[in-house]
Amino acid sequence: MATFTAELALDPDAVVNAVTRDGDAVAIRFMDGGVEKEERFDYLVAATGRRPNVDTLGLETTRLALDNRGAPAFDRFTMQCGDSHVFVAGDANGDIPLLHEAADQGRIAGDNAAGPTSGPGCGVRRWRSCSPTPTSRASAGPSPR
Ligand SMILES: Cc1cc2nc3c(=O)[nH]c(=O)nc-3n(C[C@H](O)[C@H](O)[C@H](O)COP(=O)(O)OP(=O)(O)OC[C@H]3O[C@@H](n4cnc5c(N)ncnc54)[C@H](O)[C@@H]3O)c2cc1C
Repeated sequence: MATFTAELALDPDAVVNAVTRDGDAVAIRFMDGGVEKEERFDYLVAATGRRPNVDTLGLETTRLALDNRGAPAFDRFTMQCGDSHVFVAGDANGDIPLLHEAADQGRIAGDNAAGPTSGPGCGVRRWRSCSPTPTSRASAGPSPR
């Protein structure tokens, strides 16, 4: 993260108070260490995320424990929902909506669902890596592979 932020300002916990157009610029007012600041930019790319599409699956008719958004509670290391035979991986579980994370979670869920009878285990994942895609592919951070 230190290497990344040395090259590019990144604030994953930013609290944005206002976004307004100012002529050809975009003015953003945000909290920075408890102090409100305003900066101007040429462009704004807004990635506001997506809501997991699980509310139409009828999960409320099962015995799965659901959170306040209707998503099943699951073990983020094994992907298993309680002690059921249901596993939830990728964006659907609303945990870490990143492509490589979804791929790792899918593999872990599959291994555990079809795997040893001794019970689900934790799989290896690329916790600290980040893979911006797809136009100019890049990857940052250590990977166990
Ligand atoms: C604009 C955008 C840019 C992104 N850029 C990056 C990036 O640069 N780097 C990065 O790591 N991640 C990025 N992501 C996130 C990444 O795309 C997702 O984390 C990843 O695709 C999740 O994979 P998934 O298989 O869990 O879900 P998805 O890729 O969404 O696949 C889910 C599939 O399930 C299908 N489906 C949904 N409901 C049902 C149903 N009821 N029955 C059957 N099928 C169903 C859908 O049609 C879809 O095909 C980006 C996401 C967006 C939206």
